[in-house]
Amino acid sequence: MIIPVRCFTCGKVIANLWEPYQRLLAENVSAAEALDQLGCNRYCCRRMLLTHVDLIDNLLAYNIHAHVEQ
Ligand SMILES: [Zn+2]
Repeated sequence: MIIPVRCFTCGKVIANLWEPYQRLLAENVSAAEALDQLGCNRYCCRRMLLTHVDLIDNLLAYNIHAHVEQ
């Protein structure tokens, strides 16, 4: 879905790290190194980025309000 704004455990804002994290991964930087570069040091925050699956674009294909004209 959408990356949560804050870490569920400690409350640190992590949503702003998602796009830089994706850019670093696209540049073939390892996940651990990317998180270190972004200053994401706590393992609770690291798991938020590591385990996130970005599904919002897939979900929008099933928006019932986009197909009401008939
Ligand atoms: Zn955290």
